[in-house]
Amino acid sequence: MSTKFNRGKAYHGSSAVTEGKLQGATDTDYFYFFCPVCEGKQIMRPLDYEVRQEQPDNPYNDQLKSKAVKGFTLAFKLHCEKCNLTDFVKVSNLGWQGGDFEARVKPA
Ligand SMILES: [Zn+2]
Repeated sequence: MSTKFNRGKAYHGSSAVTEGKLQGATDTDYFYFFCPVCEGKQIMRPLDYEVRQEQPDNPYNDQLKSKAVKGFTLAFKLHCEKCNLTDFVKVSNLGWQGGDFEARVKPA
């Protein structure tokens, strides 16, 4: 039995999910990722997650009004039952902390 994320294999989100291609939405307060390959909004199934990084401090706390309890990066392994795409996405509070997304992604 393997408990290692992605069975210990290297992983990184592919070009299928980068640059805004992976989108999602909430229904109640649950967030769903939509398959970036399939037409429409096919919900992807989270197969696994991992705490990639966790630290007791957050390096942005002294620069911002709000205070994060810790620093973290979570990785999710997502799968589409319809087209069999398996891919990865990360959520972190060690990257951008706010501001306008479009301005961040496409600096002048
Ligand atoms: Zn799909």
